[in-house]
Amino acid sequence: VTDLSSLRTDNSFAALPEDFYSRVTPQPLGDPWLVHANPEAAALIGLAPEALAGPQFLAVFSGAQPLPGGAPLAAVYSGHQFGVWAGQLGDGRALLLGEACGPAGSWELQLKGSGLTPYSRMGDGKAVLRSSVREYLASEAMHGLGIPTTRALALVASDDPVIRETVETAAVVTRMAPSFVRFGSFEHWASRQRPDLLRTLADYVIDRFYPECRPAPAGEAQSAAGPYLRLLAAVTRRTAELMADWQAVGFCHGVMNTDNMSILGLTLDYGPYGFMDGFDAHHVCNHSDSAGRYAWDAQPAVGHWNLYRLAGALMPLVQDEAALRAALAGYEQAFLGAFHRKMAAKLGLRQWQDGDEELLDGLWAAMHHDRADFSLGFRRLARVASTETSPPPGGETFEDLFIDREAAQAWLAGYRARLRQDGQADAARAAAMNRVNPLYVLRNHLAELAIRAARSRDAGEIDRLVRLLRDPYTEQPGCESYARLPPDWAGSLQVSCSS
Ligand code: AMP
Ligand code: MG
Ligand code: MG
Repeated sequence: VTDLSSLRTDNSFAALPEDFYSRVTPQPLGDPWLVHANPEAAALIGLAPEALAGPQFLAVFSGAQPLPGGAPLAAVYSGHQFGVWAGQLGDGRALLLGEACGPAGSWELQLKGSGLTPYSRMGDGKAVLRSSVREYLASEAMHGLGIPTTRALALVASDDPVIRETVETAAVVTRMAPSFVRFGSFEHWASRQRPDLLRTLADYVIDRFYPECRPAPAGEAQSAAGPYLRLLAAVTRRTAELMADWQAVGFCHGVMNTDNMSILGLTLDYGPYGFMDGFDAHHVCNHSDSAGRYAWDAQPAVGHWNLYRLAGALMPLVQDEAALRAALAGYEQAFLGAFHRKMAAKLGLRQWQDGDEELLDGLWAAMHHDRADFSLGFRRLARVASTETSPPPGGETFEDLFIDREAAQAWLAGYRARLRQDGQADAARAAAMNRVNPLYVLRNHLAELAIRAARSRDAGEIDRLVRLLRDPYTEQPGCESYARLPPDWAGSLQVSCSS
């Protein structure tokens, strides 16, 4: 459709009892301009590219007009922040406009940065251009990498001042997901001792998103707790796979609080996230996370910890601690299975086998020691010849990323031996590796350059990055600078919770 009024809407979340949300109206941005609109996300709800340029689109996604057929609301949830129970949180600056149904199913459309809600606590309900550009780009970059994520439909900016460490300007990003329900949405009703509403929420999530969890498997008697246990097991699997996805691309989320954990296993809430440049196993992307709770190498364990909080929240529905533990027990195997499958592909191996753990550990150790570039490190492995007698490949090599070249070469010797044992032809292996090891990554400095341009009303860099990161595996002519090591100034960029 070319007109938002012709979208099919549903508003299933708004049909839940009023306890789950407060009805709110957005606070419109003053004198808004459309920084970017995403035709790929628009297509998911059947919105034609022409629709993105019109005044109606800008009015709706700057908060000035309601979404036709929508039911705007802010959802309530609670959560554990940095390991500590934080009590009630909620959509403090996010607002669900409504739900649109298109060729790719039902999608909730959510404004972020559209003003105060009953859950804003001490905040102003706003978002700055800087963090909005980062969320917009990361959503699409993750999608380009094939990693489950919320999507981004539109980015609208304004000269309205927003006070952070300095005075910045306001923006609103429109996110899309089938649902924004979080682990913290469940924790909320458990902590409020409302098993009735907890059950309503769990049933809603199961019926809409996990219908396979409703019936008992063949040969098993249905029990009242069965669907909730199967839901926990399914969320456990999806979360484990998401953690494997993040680890395999060197992504750090930065704020893995339970209120930022999607019940659908989506990457949710892009704040101080980061894709690693030089590999540091203990990399902490969030400048505010001084204890390093959410360091890269801690993410899989944090995912598990967060699932324990979800399991605890389901206790009133299940009443059986041992059964909840059993539902969580699949985490490690699901994570390792997915992680090994991904790492085997990244290394160009047909399958993961005994001994590959040591090979990978050796690679991590060498890369960590020299802070070798994460993405280029894997990308350049595709050009390693399995026999040293093969002619050396042209261009920059894997070893060039290391200060200690001998250490890199020593690791390569073991790697070559493993490749010969694996037995694939080098060319076929290289082609397969280049389909899983991205050449272009949303590095902090690339996002920063796009932010700087957007501040002077130039959205060209955002557009270039969105197009490039849509297919991060294929070399694109004229984009050499996007595939290079970061410049020196990238090292001094800091991202924090301030957004
Ligand atoms: P986050 O760490 O970004 O997930 O945010 C944690 C909680 O703080 C959520 O409930 C947010 O809605 C809320 N929040 C963050 N920033 C703001 C803001 N500027 N105004 C109101 N609420 C906010
Ligand atoms: Mg959040
Ligand atoms: Mg946030």
